Amino acid sequence: MLWARLPVPGALGHVNVWLLPDADQGWWLADSGMAMPAVEAAWTHLAGSLDLRGRLHGILVTHHHPDHIGLAAALGQRFGVPVRCSAGTFDATVRALRSEPEAALADFAAWALANGLSPDDGLSELMTGRSYRRMISGVPAPADPLAEGDVVALASGWTVSLHQGHAPGHACFHNADAGLLISGDQVLPTISPNVSLYPGHHDADPLGQYLQSLRALRRIPDTVTVLPAHGRPFRGLHARLDALAAEHEGRLRAIEAALLRPHSLEEVVALLFRVRLTDALNRMLAIGETLAHLCHLELAGRIRRAGTGPAQRWSRNGRPA
Ligand SMILES: [Zn+2]
Repeated sequence: MLWARLPVPGALGHVNVWLLPDADQGWWLADSGMAMPAVEAAWTHLAGSLDLRGRLHGILVTHHHPDHIGLAAALGQRFGVPVRCSAGTFDATVRALRSEPEAALADFAAWALANGLSPDDGLSELMTGRSYRRMISGVPAPADPLAEGDVVALASGWTVSLHQGHAPGHACFHNADAGLLISGDQVLPTISPNVSLYPGHHDADPLGQYLQSLRALRRIPDTVTVLPAHGRPFRGLHARLDALAAEHEGRLRAIEAALLRPHSLEEVVALLFRVRLTDALNRMLAIGETLAHLCHLELAGRIRRAGTGPAQRWSRNGRPA
């Protein structure tokens, strides 16, 4: 197989994409990079040097975030090949590209008030999908959706598993014979994948789902080499799954301890992230991640909220232990 590292703006810097061998010296591509000129130029170069025309059999997409699905629609068209993703990924892409800006703004305002933010908060540009549209080449033409247990790129044989928590229907690809796992963003070697609650999210408890997915991934042998979307391939899958779960459990305990005294959302964000978040994207990620932890505890009946907008306060249920 082949590994290409494509540019992504911001702190991440890059995304890894993979070419999986198929029959007749063909390839399946797993993830595509963001729709931006530097990545388009990289694909023009790769298509020529790898002689991909006529040999690219299809494109797999792990999830709907723009550094993964970004160029999939354009490359699918250019090479005349199917783009396969889960139904969850397809629906999330369509939702994020939803074209009525007024409805999206109204949804954001209601969501902001219900979750302790001001509706005129500077996050509406990011949270209503306006910036998403600039980073992807469109919705891929509908193709056979990826389902749990499917085997793709038949000549090399990768088994699909679907996961929730980071993104709806995030696909991972496991090659048992080769001992390889393409983990996308679901498991990353050095950073904790973002697990967030945002407007229009149809999942009430993404953190609960993410923790469940970490348990499900333990079915994959610890001996695999993990091929993540960001960072370098690594060994030690099970230890990494344990470390990611422990990091979230630690945050949940820290929030519960702090909420003996009522806190606003912004106060909990400051408690968890400890840095001043001046960049809108980082602020959105921190707020979404904090809300995912708060809602997980709220659904478990461990904490509650009172009030709306910036006046909202979260506090612990019951008597202190
Ligand atoms: Zn992602």
